Amino acid sequence: MIILENYINGTLQKPLSGEYIDNIDPSVGEVYGKIPNSNAADVQAAVDAAEKAFPIWSGMTAKQRSEIMLRVAALVEKNLDALAAAESQDNGKPLKLAQTVDIPRARDNFAFFATAILHQEDAFHNMGASGFNYTLREPIGIVGCISPWNLPLYLFTWKIAPALASGNCVIAKPSEVTPYSAYLFSKLCIEAGMPAGVLNILHGTGPSCGQAIVEHKKIKAISFTGGTKTGENIARIAAPMFKKLSLELGGKNPNLVFADADFDLAVSTSARAAFTNQGQICLCGSRIFVEASIYEKFKVAFLEKIEKLTVGPPEDENSRMGAVVSEAHMNKVLEYISLAKKEGGTILHGGHRVMLQGKHANGYYLAPTVIEGLAYDCRTNQEEIFGPVVTLTPFETEEEALMMANSTVYGLSSTIFTKDLNKAHRVASNIHAGIVWINCWLVRDLRTPFGGMKASGVGREGGLEALHFFTEPKNVCLHY
Ligand code: NAD
Repeated sequence: MIILENYINGTLQKPLSGEYIDNIDPSVGEVYGKIPNSNAADVQAAVDAAEKAFPIWSGMTAKQRSEIMLRVAALVEKNLDALAAAESQDNGKPLKLAQTVDIPRARDNFAFFATAILHQEDAFHNMGASGFNYTLREPIGIVGCISPWNLPLYLFTWKIAPALASGNCVIAKPSEVTPYSAYLFSKLCIEAGMPAGVLNILHGTGPSCGQAIVEHKKIKAISFTGGTKTGENIARIAAPMFKKLSLELGGKNPNLVFADADFDLAVSTSARAAFTNQGQICLCGSRIFVEASIYEKFKVAFLEKIEKLTVGPPEDENSRMGAVVSEAHMNKVLEYISLAKKEGGTILHGGHRVMLQGKHANGYYLAPTVIEGLAYDCRTNQEEIFGPVVTLTPFETEEEALMMANSTVYGLSSTIFTKDLNKAHRVASNIHAGIVWINCWLVRDLRTPFGGMKASGVGREGGLEALHFFTEPKNVCLHY
């Protein structure tokens, strides 16, 4: 039984209430650990530690902070295998995916922001003969970072790294569904010599621990990634306290495949975009719109690809899809599949739980599911399912494709497949999404703004956007 601890004031500590919740391995459907269910008292202890640490951390030079963060990055790299195994056990994702995507990216997040602060320039506005302005970027103080379960350490470090790099002290909470890699990460921070209280990692449920972070008056900014409903609740609490808020929320991302696309690229990329990480990436393309003249050909080729997606134990090299994150989530996805049938959809592939043998017999596995014949505006095509479910819909014109793509409340990401670059840029400019990929998917440059429009969120992460979020600009004006 693996019993996790909070990381507060530079040490690993039990929750003050003594309360724990179960940690479940979704690949076998069994409890394998205990997680502190921290509450407002633990958050207060973390805030006290962070308050003491803030003058020390914010008083360091960028180079000093950078060196400590680079040591953390190096330790993540050194411990890649152990972190990937933890991530896969917690989340159900294929081990190989954790080894090649999640953990390397967590390392990169720290290295990227640790070095970004070495190259920062501040703004200067010249008023000629009458004077000038310069703008300081000061750390906010104590900030809260709350992350979800789908890309656990990847998204956790994506917030923590820019917050720390900018000189803030952090109270962070990973998802209670996938906390194990964050716990191992806290040990690496201790090993790297992170000063006590600079980073505090608390475990617990949203209502008990997450909400206490959002409610705490001394935590001046909240960077949150998770569901739209949770984001709404956080905004309601934080807004009257005038906290800075960055909300990265849900998505229902469209893939637009035009008849003049590179066909093989469109098919294979759409399959990857739909089912990577069991469809549990906020950027997954879950609605595929295909130009009517190639719809049947696309459907056949797409289904051939999906046939080859082996669902199996995460540790098995041949598994392309592992378990979904929890029993509750599996049941939610299955309910959406039932809804799709009620709404008139035809299941072309999957649509059911996959029962494995032996020790994985009780794991939460779902077949990759492809549905056609649904109206673009039915619930299945409008609500976020966040699992291995994709719909295929034909379109006649560019206008119709855009109308359907833009019809949801979400606006996170989108992908366009066409060889006509004029069309690609025209569609990109008319699509309501914070991220547009042309003839590719999930190609990431950490310097670019990352985030969504409409109900997909408020604010952007990534590069300077993140460094700006975690700092307060202060303009100093000198009049001659
Ligand atoms: P969730 O909203 O249930 O939980 C996210 C985090 O918020 C968890 O740590 C949880 O404990 C915490 N939380 C829950 N209630 C809270 C409260 N009242 N106060 C403070 N914290 C609270 O989301 P999830 O199920 O973990 O993740 C899936 C969702 O995340 C999907 O909607 C997905 O689209 C979204 N997501 C978005 C992005 C993005 O970048 N836009 C990235 C990944 C995931």
